[in-house]
Amino acid sequence: MSPVRRCSRTACSQPAVFTLTYVYADSTAVLGPLATYAEPHCYDLCAEHAERLTAPRGWEVVRLPTEGVPPSTDDLEALANAVREAARPAPAGKAEPVGQAVEIGRRGHLRVLRSAQPQRDR
Ligand SMILES: [Zn+2]
Repeated sequence: MSPVRRCSRTACSQPAVFTLTYVYADSTAVLGPLATYAEPHCYDLCAEHAERLTAPRGWEVVRLPTEGVPPSTDDLEALANAVREAARPAPAGKAEPVGQAVEIGRRGHLRVLRSAQPQRDR
């Protein structure tokens, strides 16, 4: 038995139908289908609040298709992984180099980036 997910907006008790994920490293807010499980930086939204969503200044909102053909599990997992990686703070002392991200995919105008890992010789 899983409890009904509710909109996370204050004073709103509508059932959640979207999940909003903030990708801080990318200044992007991704609005997609309701996530299977809650994660940090994720907020469940009802249809109305998702519709009215506006991004903070300087942020981009990416709306994933939620009608018609649902995205494949692979797409969702790839996105979830990308979001998780982006949300994870860089290890101390190993700051990621700027401008060396490698584009590994493109979903609409959402670019999935992975930082290039410097290869070290043994
Ligand atoms: Zn709401």
